[in-house]
Amino acid sequence: MSAIVSAINLGHWRTRALIDLDALRHNVDYVHRKAPNAKVMAVVKSNAYGHGALEIAGAITERVDAFAVATIDEGIELRAAGINQTIVVLSAFWNAEQVSVLNTFKLTPVIHHLEQINWLEKEAKRPQSTWIKINTGMNRLGLQPDELVFAVSRVEAIPAIKIVGLMSHLANADDVEDPMTTGQSKVFQEACCGFNYPRSLANSAAILSRSDMHFDWVRPGIMLYGGSPLLEQSAQSLNLQPVMRLESRLISLRMLESGSAVGYGALWRSHKTIRLGIAAIGYGDGYPIVIDPETCAMVGEQRCRIVGRVSMDSLALDLSECKDTKVGDVVTLWGGRMSVDEVAGHAGTIGYELLCRITSRVPRLVVH
Ligand SMILES: *Cc1c(COP(=O)(O)O)cnc(C)c1O
Repeated sequence: MSAIVSAINLGHWRTRALIDLDALRHNVDYVHRKAPNAKVMAVVKSNAYGHGALEIAGAITERVDAFAVATIDEGIELRAAGINQTIVVLSAFWNAEQVSVLNTFKLTPVIHHLEQINWLEKEAKRPQSTWIKINTGMNRLGLQPDELVFAVSRVEAIPAIKIVGLMSHLANADDVEDPMTTGQSKVFQEACCGFNYPRSLANSAAILSRSDMHFDWVRPGIMLYGGSPLLEQSAQSLNLQPVMRLESRLISLRMLESGSAVGYGALWRSHKTIRLGIAAIGYGDGYPIVIDPETCAMVGEQRCRIVGRVSMDSLALDLSECKDTKVGDVVTLWGGRMSVDEVAGHAGTIGYELLCRITSRVPRLVVH
């Protein structure tokens, strides 16, 4: 790793993910503008969607009311880095021992299963906050609505435990036409009524499209990073700014005769003489191997097609439209005018996955 860092310092980087904290702050401020009366639980699970949890959390601690992570270890990592903000662990805990670990690191779990209450009754001795999650139709995590009264009364009876809110999660909010979202919200509100606890339902998609579902806390994830949470709507049209810019460089150029094959499997052949460039990024860096023939990267201001199969450490570009390129030039895989959602569309996946799977070989560099 230190070799990579010193190579970067010398200007010899081969790939990098620039992390734009101004864009991040713009997106956080936009959450507040969209949901002015709600508290914000910024979701920084999975290394802040691949952006670097410590850098992301450190940059926005003052602007949000809590962080959410998926695992206890992710929470501990933030605590170890000196983050004092509330940290909610969305999918903890699944045994009694973890109760004291949560407490030691002042992590707030989410109760989503009745058995967890047994462990709290047995183990919770020091003051501990908790959320309670309700399954409103996604059938991933959460108590059944008809279990809630029983669950809440048991948790309220544990002296050390303080319930800080009731939450649920939406399955189809990315499709603004889907009636399931309204149905889930209805189940949620009915389950919560009678309790005086803060409520939380909205992910990024509902923050942007369903102001009737903001309640007391919103939980933005992808929109913080400038990805679009809504089908058919670009991040740009939603006023979101991309936080990550994934870059590589051209390390080889050649003229390719018509009919020549490129890459493993010789899957692609040129139909004319073209200029071919090799960029130093591949699936070993987390770039997807399965992409359709329309997938492009930016060389300067020009969109260029990726041709042939993506290798572990490189991929090939048709540079016919690019004049004056030379070895060392920067290639932008996403960020700026190439949205991660566009690449994801060509890769049969979602922007979330592409961002998360950038590997540790790619250094993250914070820029302002
Ligand atoms: C990941 C997650 C979120 C954030 O979802 P986005 O679509 O990225 O905004 C919110 N709540 C829960 C429970 C999650 O798991």
